[in-house]
Amino acid sequence: MEWDTIAAISTPIGEGGIGIVRVSGPEAVDIVEKVVESSSGIKIRDFPSHTLKLCRVKNPDTGEVVDEVMVSVMRAPKTFTREDVVEINCHGGAAPLGATLKAVLASGARLALPGEFSKRAFLNGRIDLAQAEAIIDVIRARTGKGLSAALDHLEGSLSREIRGIRDDLSGCLARIEVNIDFPGEDPDAEVTTEELGKNLSRIEKEIEKLLAGAGQGKVLREGLKTVIAGRPNVGKSSLLNALLREKRAIVTDIPGTTRDVIEEMLNLGGIPVRVLDTAGIRPTRDEVERIGVERSERALKEADLVLVIMDASTGLLEEDKGVLKKAGEARCLVVVNKSDLVEKVDIEGWEKLTSRECVAVSAKTGWGLSSLEEKIRGIIEKGEKVREGPLITRVRHEEALRKALKHIREAREACSLGVPEDIIAIDVREAWTSLGEITGDTASEEIVDRIFADFCIGK
Ligand code: GDP
Repeated sequence: MEWDTIAAISTPIGEGGIGIVRVSGPEAVDIVEKVVESSSGIKIRDFPSHTLKLCRVKNPDTGEVVDEVMVSVMRAPKTFTREDVVEINCHGGAAPLGATLKAVLASGARLALPGEFSKRAFLNGRIDLAQAEAIIDVIRARTGKGLSAALDHLEGSLSREIRGIRDDLSGCLARIEVNIDFPGEDPDAEVTTEELGKNLSRIEKEIEKLLAGAGQGKVLREGLKTVIAGRPNVGKSSLLNALLREKRAIVTDIPGTTRDVIEEMLNLGGIPVRVLDTAGIRPTRDEVERIGVERSERALKEADLVLVIMDASTGLLEEDKGVLKKAGEARCLVVVNKSDLVEKVDIEGWEKLTSRECVAVSAKTGWGLSSLEEKIRGIIEKGEKVREGPLITRVRHEEALRKALKHIREAREACSLGVPEDIIAIDVREAWTSLGEITGDTASEEIVDRIFADFCIGK
């Protein structure tokens, strides 16, 4: 397949030591040749592949030099997009990058759409869909553990596992077809429904194993959504600040947070924890406050973990019980704050009163914070031993796996009920198709477009 040549600035906007204009497509070398002159006098088209050379970029209309750059020519097919790629390392500022991009566009390249480089890598078979998604996850990884899960996918571990299962399913299908098309002709190639049921049951277990890590995988990618709740003045903001102060070096702001719900990111032993400090939860008549409270309640519903803060010095109040009730079914940890104000916190007493796991802290002195963090980590890891092999980190993958699992179970049950093989084959084929959505082998154009639309320009 041949396309036009695309170009974009691939580094973030702002000042930096370098910024890169990436050009990809059949005309990439010729287009850059028109605007770049190497210091050594060697033509760009004669550059050895995958080496850097000092050059100058010129405005194609005026001949004026717009930046001094390092240029690398990477010849197809050993490139990210599998097309010819030229990267121009400019000085990292808006003016030199803008002028260089403009020169390249004026010479015949088209501005790349968001994610178009990666989409070409996918369409040209350099990476599959799960690997393309992993690029974004590597870029957005919040902690070391999140990064290694994403790199694992980028390297293809998930794709390999999915392909293995799909191959097993096509094996089953092939043998069913022999049974149907050539009954009795080749007993070795035929399969009994008992054998088929056994194979399906093995595949079912493999998928279940993959799904078992989905909860943890999601947390690694998106962070554990933790909501700090409690009546006014129990020390919610103080606790958030105390947690952040300890981890200041790795705090990042998350865009899109509202005034009423502050969201921050903590790194607890490699696990990203998104902490939301909500507006005080209490009945109110004030319109603005009411909206804040509504948002808090929504955050509570969507939380992976709720930290209900209470005040050791006042004991459990009616209002605290109200907050506990609002937390409802969510995984919940009661944090008894202001422990510095009392002689001793009777944790067992609190646990009896609240019927929840409790931990005593003082946001003011920092006492107990490490055991709070320890408890949060324990909650994440509880019951979900980190599995060997790839973790399912995306809802899209999880849904495809669940769909496949449902069809495989149906097919397996059908085997034991003596349902005709052509009917069983329908479910097996559906499972095979669902799994193909993960790697992109059977994904619709719409799914592919949606995935790349999540990328930004230059990726
Ligand atoms: P919020 O309304 O729940 O966010 O509560 P704040 O964090 O604003 O705290 C309310 C008041 O309690 C402030 O005066 C804090 O200084 C005080 N406070 C918070 N945590 C502690 C603590 O651990 N010990 C003591 N002694 N005071 C605290």
